[in-house]
Amino acid sequence: MIQQDSNINEALSYSVYTSTRPGLNRDPNTPPGLDNLKWVSNSATLIYGRNDAVLVDTFLTIEHTNALADSIADTGKNLKYIYITHAHGDHFFGLQLLLDRFPNAIPIATQAVAKNCGEHTQPEVVNDFWKPRFPGQIPEKLAIPEVLQSNEFELEGKKMVAMETGFTDTFDSSVLYVPSIGLIVGGDVVYNGIHLYLGETTAATRLEWKNALDNLIKLQPKRVVAGHKQPSFSDDPVILMETKRYLENFERLNAETSTTIELYNAMIALYPEHANPGSLWGGALITKRTI
Ligand SMILES: [Zn+2]
Repeated sequence: MIQQDSNINEALSYSVYTSTRPGLNRDPNTPPGLDNLKWVSNSATLIYGRNDAVLVDTFLTIEHTNALADSIADTGKNLKYIYITHAHGDHFFGLQLLLDRFPNAIPIATQAVAKNCGEHTQPEVVNDFWKPRFPGQIPEKLAIPEVLQSNEFELEGKKMVAMETGFTDTFDSSVLYVPSIGLIVGGDVVYNGIHLYLGETTAATRLEWKNALDNLIKLQPKRVVAGHKQPSFSDDPVILMETKRYLENFERLNAETSTTIELYNAMIALYPEHANPGSLWGGALITKRTI
């Protein structure tokens, strides 16, 4: 008699958790107004089968991470892996707290991301950048993911693909692609209703970012989760094209304007409902270098 694993044809599912916090740009010259939009939210995505789960990215603060851990515990799933998409603190500083709660989970990332996480947890980055912005809210112990030996791993027999995307809003970004359900968990390669973080980018890297988006569009995903999404927004794959258009509009309006405030105002006119205008201000300031 052949015994068949009842789970073998069962599709994976996913849940998206979001946390909302103040933005990172605290430039005193940021134009006033839009107070109802001065926030940003992060997503953490749990992909799960009958028993096991993979979490993609963590939250930043102690409080948000503890709430995320509670939500994961409530699912009753066995957390096998925590995949980190890129080395920004708001996507992995909760890692150690989650590992304390789920000691069997294996934290993983691409080789480049694991290395960059090591640099991002250096005391000067944590103490000079993160702690002053979120006093008392950054976990004291920070963990670094292990290096994935291959760009693929499995969850209940289904393939998970770590895709390197090059420079998007930072260097060595990646997404996690789940072909069996057409899901892309996009990290900061894709945004949803939130101004892009352009503060580390140049015209050349923004072109690289657009190419990365084109490559993801070619996969024809059914669902795309943005690393920064307005909590009520759907994970419609159209956000890949919208993120690409945002980059194109920024480039076009950069060419048509001469100061930071002109570029900022032109983009706000196009995206009046996008959250986190401070992030746009920071990107415009770095691009123009003159207010
Ligand atoms: Zn981010």
